[in-house]
Amino acid sequence: MKKDITTLSKEEIKSFCANNDIRSFVSSQVYSWIWNKSCSSFSDMSNVSLEDRSKFDKEFFINSLDVDVEEESSDGTIKTKFKLHDGNFVEGVLIPKNKRMTACISSQVGCSLSCSFCATGTLGLTRNLSASEIYRQVVYILKKCLEVHNQPLTNIVFMGMGEPLLNYKNVLRSIHFITSEEGLNMSYKRITLSTSGISKMIRKLADDNVKVNLALSLHAANEELRKKIMPIGKSNTLEEIRDSLKYYFSKTKKKVTYEYVLLRDVNDSIEDAYQLYKYTKHLSSKVNIIEYNAVEGLEFQKSSFEKTEKFIGYLLKKGVNVSLRRSRGKDINAACGQLANKN
Ligand code: SAH
Ligand code: SF4
Repeated sequence: MKKDITTLSKEEIKSFCANNDIRSFVSSQVYSWIWNKSCSSFSDMSNVSLEDRSKFDKEFFINSLDVDVEEESSDGTIKTKFKLHDGNFVEGVLIPKNKRMTACISSQVGCSLSCSFCATGTLGLTRNLSASEIYRQVVYILKKCLEVHNQPLTNIVFMGMGEPLLNYKNVLRSIHFITSEEGLNMSYKRITLSTSGISKMIRKLADDNVKVNLALSLHAANEELRKKIMPIGKSNTLEEIRDSLKYYFSKTKKKVTYEYVLLRDVNDSIEDAYQLYKYTKHLSSKVNIIEYNAVEGLEFQKSSFEKTEKFIGYLLKKGVNVSLRRSRGKDINAACGQLANKN
């Protein structure tokens, strides 16, 4: 079986060249075709000799994505369902908002963490995405953005399918290519990684000095309730998570954003708001209240207009830096937590 060349480092490609009687500079050319130009076939590598191309082709394939279906929402959000080389699917979304162009990308096929309100959670985990499969979602959505809006992406968020910190190595490698001259050369500042709160990995992110923006999916600042709606809370207590976030802040000086999906009569009382305030006040940070997007087959509903207003009003009075994030692309199931490879 052919090997996936995108998993090779520059040095490994170089040594393949050395062992196969290919001149050494060809390795940089091939590497640049794969990453800078996101090429998906050796036959397109026009500055590489036919003979060398066929040597590569015998041994390797280039792990790329095909577009399966694309849908556009009435609000301009575009959801792309990508087909992977092994027949699996993942989804990526382009979310335009004034001049802000956000790519929301997936890190895994499905997710193992089964949060009770999330569509992706109902799928279970099929597998991790490779760095190239993550990176090429960004490349594709960037191209789309240029086509449709005539401007590049301003933000990239790891808020699609999967838990990025449980696919750490590949997510970091994809971030390397998004931010380096070997790839898209974008700033770290534009990238937000959203996690359900795996304290050990948050510490690792800090130790590895990865200066992305970090968002914690909190959704309940009450231990019992959080464990109930987010099973990962059983092995990562609120205290452990807070300590790891403090550590992240101390190392990177980057503020953390808390995400809080308002679920009707589950976590939307004033008592819940008080606990949220108490939990987040220790770290200078921002709280994003997220409108819940209904998921077929799950019993949760979004909080009422009245309760949402009260909840946010309470936090504002307490001096919390809070904002409401309304859902986008709902009519095509492209909103947060609705990605489940439907149709
Ligand atoms: N696994 C990571 C990133 C992907 S989920 C995480 O959980 O953070 C991205 C965000 O969407 C998370 O904050 C998640 O809790 C939220 N989310 C999940 N289901 C949702 C839904 N149905 N409506 C609104 N937000 C949802
Ligand atoms: Fe996984 Fe995030 Fe969905 Fe939870 S909310 S099941 S961690 S994708």
